[in-house]
Amino acid sequence: MSMNHIRPWRNIERRKSRQIMVGNVPVGGDAPIAVQTMTNTDSGDVKATLGQVLAAAEAGADIVRISAPDVAATTALKEICKESPVPIVADIHFHYKRAIEAAEAGAACLRINPGNIGDEKRVKEVIKAARDHGCSIRIGVNGGSLEKHLLDKYGEPCPDAMVESGLDHIKILQDNDFHEFKISVKASDVFMSAAAYQMLADATDAPIHLGITEAGGFVSGTIKSAIGLGQLLWMGIGDTLRVSLSADPVEEVKVGFEILKSLGLRHRGVNIISCPSCARQGFDVIKTVEALEERLAHIHTPMSLSIIGCVVNGPGEALMTDVGFTGGGAGSGMVYLAGKQSHKLSNEAMVDHIVEQVEAKAAEIEAVKAAEDAAE
Ligand code: SF4
Repeated sequence: MSMNHIRPWRNIERRKSRQIMVGNVPVGGDAPIAVQTMTNTDSGDVKATLGQVLAAAEAGADIVRISAPDVAATTALKEICKESPVPIVADIHFHYKRAIEAAEAGAACLRINPGNIGDEKRVKEVIKAARDHGCSIRIGVNGGSLEKHLLDKYGEPCPDAMVESGLDHIKILQDNDFHEFKISVKASDVFMSAAAYQMLADATDAPIHLGITEAGGFVSGTIKSAIGLGQLLWMGIGDTLRVSLSADPVEEVKVGFEILKSLGLRHRGVNIISCPSCARQGFDVIKTVEALEERLAHIHTPMSLSIIGCVVNGPGEALMTDVGFTGGGAGSGMVYLAGKQSHKLSNEAMVDHIVEQVEAKAAEIEAVKAAEDAAE
């Protein structure tokens, strides 16, 4: 993470974790925090599942997880993994044979808890399959499905029980000399999750997968995740994340990126800074922002755009954005480029013109980046 010496209050120092690979995506160390989502189709339906994988990848997902509860699902995985542009994590519960099949089918990572798959022989078989096929493993502790002996010991699900469960699973992998793993300790309760993750961060150097499980519908789940994951990320904890929403996986990806963008941890696409609007607005801010979000969804280049209703905040925000528009009087406003006042623009021509300006700026940023890469 680069340090910002001019604005030190923006600095987040990430916890130092080991780096592992999930397919071709590095997770942990100084790798960008990877955004994940999970399909919710019938995993045996290749067309539907692959459709969701492709849509999630297009929205920016670095990794996609697919449930593999039966043979139909692990069979379908073969084709899905072959066609997917991003690594696939196979989500397995208990069935060690599904794990082996998923590894053989090309999954880049198995989400499986080695303590829950039976005797040592089975554990060894799964680890061997993972090793033979270059799979990493994600240990996924969930506050709602803790082992009975831990519930007996602690009385109820709690951060200590979750971390102890996680460390038990880690030990099994380490005892088998398997170190390509990451770990999550999710709960639906924000307090429990956050406390468990903080304890976990101190107890291991494994990369950490963040999530608030069963977070809820789009609005409530987004808020819960932003609070829970936001504070952990702000503390420097977390190497990959999934926002769990009862919503389309694409929405999960978008929310994940917005959380990372808010903290300056990752940048993708146009970061639109807009005011809530009020009676002073010189144009319809809400409708304009809606239209621009849709028209600019294809831009992946990190950049900023301010759309502000009037001169109260417009010029100030435009100072810090690549492209800006501030509403004025008499049906027109002012365009700012690279923080400087540039030219007047009528409200009617605004959306088309701003899209052109943003596209031009994105092309300019990409050209500079390409030249820098070539020079290296
Ligand atoms: S910037 Fe202007 S239009 Fe927007 S909310 Fe503030 S006062 Fe209202």
